[in-house]
Amino acid sequence: MSGKFQVDLAGAGGTAPGIADAPVSDRIRARLERAGRRFHANDNIHDCIEPGELEILQQEVAARMRTVLEALVIDIESDHNTQDTARRVAKMYVREVFGGRYVPMPAVTEFPNVSLLNELMIVGPVTVRSACSHHFCPIMGRVWVGVMPNEQSALIGLSKYARLIEWIMARPQIQEEAIAQLADLLQEKMQPDGLAIVMEADHFCMQWRGVRDSNSRMTNSIMRGSFLKDANLRREFLSLMPDGPK
Ligand SMILES: [Zn+2]
Repeated sequence: MSGKFQVDLAGAGGTAPGIADAPVSDRIRARLERAGRRFHANDNIHDCIEPGELEILQQEVAARMRTVLEALVIDIESDHNTQDTARRVAKMYVREVFGGRYVPMPAVTEFPNVSLLNELMIVGPVTVRSACSHHFCPIMGRVWVGVMPNEQSALIGLSKYARLIEWIMARPQIQEEAIAQLADLLQEKMQPDGLAIVMEADHFCMQWRGVRDSNSRMTNSIMRGSFLKDANLRREFLSLMPDGPK
């Protein structure tokens, strides 16, 4: 590769090249590979990032983003609007919209089901914000969760659903995989008899580009346990979902 395309990676310093000078993303990737871990766009990798490295990773993304703007032939030197865009985009990706890849799962207290609830509970609609893995275009939508607890189930506080949903959605996602990740997580946390999730979302890659269809919306659902076996329970959930998809 020609030196022209070399990225000045902040944090690398001016010392002689060596492994310590490798971009921090290389060090994190090496750890993931050693551990045999998958690091797809919607995987969480926080446990392979050491303290202080996220800051340096954000600087690396900003440096690489500057080269993307330059490749788009945007004059980031004199265009006051884009002078700071690389830094802003890096912060947005690493700390905000894709932050669910880099931070641990939010702490969620589970309560024993002391009153032995075994009635259908429905949570939602909870707003979901994500971006598609294919185009990095926003996905905006809503999700509903139905839980059928049993005596052994753990229960989680209402506000915790939103925090877990946000953690899963703040990654480049595919709606079908996002809803499956969410189901796996809630299943593991609560061990309910049944779990039902419905997600409805607008995909901006369909509206802004491609077919430019501003009315297309994708709805998908996952039914597990008693919701899968019991058609009446499934119907009850779908009819009681507040403000559900039409
Ligand atoms: Zn897309």
